Amino acid sequence: MDLQNILKTYFGYDEFRNGQDKLIESIIKGRDALGIMPTGGGKSICYQLPAIALDGITIVISPLISLMKDQVDSLNELGINAAFINSTLDNDEFLQILEGIRGNSYKIVYVAPERLNTDSFINLVKDIRISLVAVDEAHCISQWGHDFRPSYLEIPRFINSLKQRPAVAAFTATATKEIIKEINRLIGLRNPIEVTTGFDRPNLYYQVLKVSNKSKFLIEYLNENFKTESGIVYCSTRKSVESLVKVLSDKGFSAVGYHGGMNSEERQKNQDDFILGNKRIIVATNAFGMGIDKPDVRFVIHYNMPKNMEAYYQEAGRAGRDGEKSDCILLYSASDIVKQKLMIQNNDIDPKRQEILYKNLQYLVNYCNTNDCLRNQILNYFDEDFANDKCKNCSNCIDSSEMMDITLEAQKILSCIYRVSQRYGANMVIQVLRGSKNKKVLEARLDNVSTYGIMKEYSDSAISEIIMTLVSSGYIHMTHDKYPVLKLTSKSADVLSGKTKLHHKKHLLQKKDEKEKASKSIKGGNIDFDIELFEKLKQYRYKIAQEKGLPPYV
Ligand code: ADP
Ligand code: MG
Repeated sequence: MDLQNILKTYFGYDEFRNGQDKLIESIIKGRDALGIMPTGGGKSICYQLPAIALDGITIVISPLISLMKDQVDSLNELGINAAFINSTLDNDEFLQILEGIRGNSYKIVYVAPERLNTDSFINLVKDIRISLVAVDEAHCISQWGHDFRPSYLEIPRFINSLKQRPAVAAFTATATKEIIKEINRLIGLRNPIEVTTGFDRPNLYYQVLKVSNKSKFLIEYLNENFKTESGIVYCSTRKSVESLVKVLSDKGFSAVGYHGGMNSEERQKNQDDFILGNKRIIVATNAFGMGIDKPDVRFVIHYNMPKNMEAYYQEAGRAGRDGEKSDCILLYSASDIVKQKLMIQNNDIDPKRQEILYKNLQYLVNYCNTNDCLRNQILNYFDEDFANDKCKNCSNCIDSSEMMDITLEAQKILSCIYRVSQRYGANMVIQVLRGSKNKKVLEARLDNVSTYGIMKEYSDSAISEIIMTLVSSGYIHMTHDKYPVLKLTSKSADVLSGKTKLHHKKHLLQKKDEKEKASKSIKGGNIDFDIELFEKLKQYRYKIAQEKGLPPYV
């Protein structure tokens, strides 16, 4: 039977999706493969179809114990003999399945990574014909990923223990270069065909929102937009999951919770209720969702900011797997950043890794603060170019809110960073700009610098908003430390010289009663005095960077 036929007969689909046929053909020929496709892209078929076409058994290594049974059930329904081995089996069931494998009863066997190197399994598979080892959610092997599973590191030992090395195929929705490299190296793929499909999900609408009362917003938003549809609300803590489920239920919404602190029956029940449509909304921590195939999730709302872009994109990507229009909304607040930073800080890990975590977090913070197209920001993270500057399907592209020129404000801030010797964080810079009599400011004698009090008319939040925008667009460098320090970049010169004009959404910068004062301040003020200094500084930094072999942006 040709591949198209198998696709139609077993899975009922007429055509392959982008990338599937290339991977499948190559795997059937016995070559190793690495499939990188977004969530919902259709990775499962890339190993299930070869499993049917090849003689012998396909072993699928998957971290998703709670979903193995569902997947195996649906394969059996399709007429493909399948089984799974994981900790949910009792000893009799386990032996029965081993017996079945020995008797060649299965085409596909799902195995939890923890089970691979048990004596009984190794002894068994030594003698049988394995044609393919598929590693699903392969990013779990990388410590840099967001779902690290130490037992994934045991996979090569398992492969090596086989009499004859079968083809090995790895699949992931993670597209960052470092992690792809790690997958290749740690699984030990040999000259794999690498297929990366585009990461854009055109049916997803992206939005970032800063709201003061998140639960109030959520209720209004659901009432206005999604009265009957299904969706996921992600929270950062178990406690907030619990309390939000209560808030929603009290308001009459059909909602359940999901987090690692619940017992496994309750978790499974809530997950099933959501997937089967008995409950409309699932409020969950990031423990929920990997491998879940619910096609009609119409919204994914992040009640808190996750730890990095990768995690965000995977979670948001659970919306709209059926290709219909769906919303991905990130509710963002400064306290989310603090929370994430504390988590990084409290994890006792080596400083190099901490720095990477801070940097990854910063990318997402920048996403929250940018005025540019959100889709472009996401795709850029995955090193993918989008054809247009504006996707016209994200809040920044269709936001009609009034923009204001913030070039002068930006110049003042950049000058101040320079005047305080690039040694302080955002809070201190804001205090100095506002002319604060705060003890720390006075002790450090920062009331003497020439930028002291030059932005008195602005609120802390407005200045902070501008600073974050400047960071997000690379005009300020925020160090990736426990206490991040603001520094100038080589791009700052363009703003200081007036060559680059900057704009920002007006409503985010001013409180109503401040509008008038602020507009006055825009007319006044002249900070040309710093340009000369800045030029000197720039040359100095370039020199240092060159000497140290660093990129010249610092
Ligand atoms: P992934 O593992 O990449 O997140 P899945 O393998 O779970 O995605 O597939 C997502 C959805 O797409 C499933 O409902 C699957 O049946 C469907 N699908 C996969 N391949 C095709 C295809 N060629 N045509 C139509 N639907 C497909
Ligand atoms: Mg999958």
